[in-house]
Amino acid sequence: MSDKIAFQADVSKMLDIVINSLYSEKQIFLRELISNASDACDKLKYWALTNPNLSQYAHDFKITIKVDEKENSLTISDNGIGMNKEDLISHLGTIAKSGTAEFVKNAGDNGSVCELIGQFGVGFYSAFMVADKVEIITRKADDDKAWQWTSNGIDGFEITESQRDHCGTSIKLFLKKDAKDYCNTIYLRQIIRTYSDHIAYPIILDLGKAGEETVNKGSALWTRPKSEITSDQYKDFYQHISHNFDEPWLTLHFKAEGNIEYTGLLYIPSQAPYDLFQPDKKQSLKLYINKVFISDKIDSLMPNYLRFVKGIIDSADLPLNISREMLQYSPLLEKIKSGTVKRLLKELQKRSKNYDDYLKFWNNFGIVLKEGIYEDFTNREDLASISYFYSTNDKTRLTTLDEYISRAVKDQKTIYYITGDDINVLRNSPQLEAFTQKGIEVLLLNDPIDEFWPQVLPNYKEFAIKHITQADMDMNWERKEQKADEGSLKKLIDFMSDLFKNELGKVTSSEKLTASPASLTVADGQMSLHLERLMRNHQQPTAFASTRILELNPYHPLIIKLSELVMDDQNKSLVEETSKILLDQAKVAEGETISDPSFYAQKISQYILNNLEKAV
Ligand code: ADP
Repeated sequence: MSDKIAFQADVSKMLDIVINSLYSEKQIFLRELISNASDACDKLKYWALTNPNLSQYAHDFKITIKVDEKENSLTISDNGIGMNKEDLISHLGTIAKSGTAEFVKNAGDNGSVCELIGQFGVGFYSAFMVADKVEIITRKADDDKAWQWTSNGIDGFEITESQRDHCGTSIKLFLKKDAKDYCNTIYLRQIIRTYSDHIAYPIILDLGKAGEETVNKGSALWTRPKSEITSDQYKDFYQHISHNFDEPWLTLHFKAEGNIEYTGLLYIPSQAPYDLFQPDKKQSLKLYINKVFISDKIDSLMPNYLRFVKGIIDSADLPLNISREMLQYSPLLEKIKSGTVKRLLKELQKRSKNYDDYLKFWNNFGIVLKEGIYEDFTNREDLASISYFYSTNDKTRLTTLDEYISRAVKDQKTIYYITGDDINVLRNSPQLEAFTQKGIEVLLLNDPIDEFWPQVLPNYKEFAIKHITQADMDMNWERKEQKADEGSLKKLIDFMSDLFKNELGKVTSSEKLTASPASLTVADGQMSLHLERLMRNHQQPTAFASTRILELNPYHPLIIKLSELVMDDQNKSLVEETSKILLDQAKVAEGETISDPSFYAQKISQYILNNLEKAV
């Protein structure tokens, strides 16, 4: 009896993309299938540790590749864990990984899809790039039934009961006419050496009458001495464990010795993954205990802010016979984690000295790394020192905190920053004017996390870190310009305070402004306007809205004129209208929304028209 089952809609779409757009990378299908076979051996090895019944199967692991030129087929077999009927249906008929299905649904038909699709591993489905029919015979290690799964990779698959002596999986590809090359053993040998040399199990090419040949070294890459590993081999291993197609930006291979011994082979990708900000995105380092794969879901292996790091950690000192859940809380694991983080940060420190090189990393992962300044109190200062920021010093080049300090003016003891959503809005913020005037640099912080980390890092080296609105700067520098008359200015402030009493906490005069007539800010110690906007966007209660303050620039001709006009009650409606425009302008400069955009637009048009009329 056979079951015919249709592919999930997402699978069909994925297959379509894989078959039609990944064309140039066809040969990676072999890497993917060998990789799955190797994982299957890893799984059985681990299972057998806690399940003595299975230990009879868990030895002499190998992956065998056999061609049949007459039939034009290629078979990849393993003696790993195998699959039962449910596994076949759920693993090879659906897309299980979180985010992947959604991504495939939204994917357009453009070239970037190819790059992205590599990030979650086209995996098994890549077989259909070269085959028009795939036949799998598999038996799960704890089961005596075997199953056959057959599909043309278009509409669905068929499952029937079958026969298999030993547990494991054989995947037979009936090659397409234009894929005959994969029957050529010389070519196969070359592909295996290129992509799969690091696989820890022997990959055996079955040459029929000519016998068998082991093609790869068959020892885990990280156990080999660094001097014997080429950069291509490091890269291939990276692509194997990450399912990525890119070159790693960083490769870090180390052996820690001392109380606890472990080896790490870590990578930082050169491209950001599509799911970097998905809430359930977890770290994905693989943990091995003495070369036995344990899990890639042990959260305590890497802090969340390093979730983009790929690779493996292997330690012979961890206990093999406890559950993964127990392992999670092992104090030894905590030591491995802190040691590994320190090594990574040291490496980043070195690379951060080369601006162009580090910028590539920073553009991908900087925003995530900054989460660490907030979360990781032991490495807080180190993380801050390898962070790059926009600043008023240079429009195009980012700066480090140390570079900022090196440019501090005489007696400056504070690193000043301003926060907002848009770097260009920030650059033109009226709040910066006094700082510009005094030649004091200000960091322009435009990521949401920037609202949080300065709260836990009040100092860096001997400098305080402060938002510019909290800067109690000495503003009494010589100003020779004409200033609004004290009495009139007071009247204007009273007038506006009354006019905006429902909207603003206060209207004041400020010495901080030079070019702008007015600016919007918040009372000392309150949540910044940027943070408030962030909370609102995340549907957080706005009950804690900060008190807004409108600051007026008493040196600005507009304010001088307005304070003259306010003295005569006849001008009331003109002053009122102008005041409203001023407030709207201040809001726009701050990136706030204005309450009545059509009023604002209308007034601006009127003003433009007046100007144009003057011209003729
Ligand atoms: P991935 O390997 O990235 O999870 P694949 O599409 O390649 O995605 O495979 C899907 C699942 O099918 C695997 O996670 C595994 O559970 C199962 N699978 C694939 N190949 C094998 C195999 N040779 N032996 C046992 N299980 C396999």
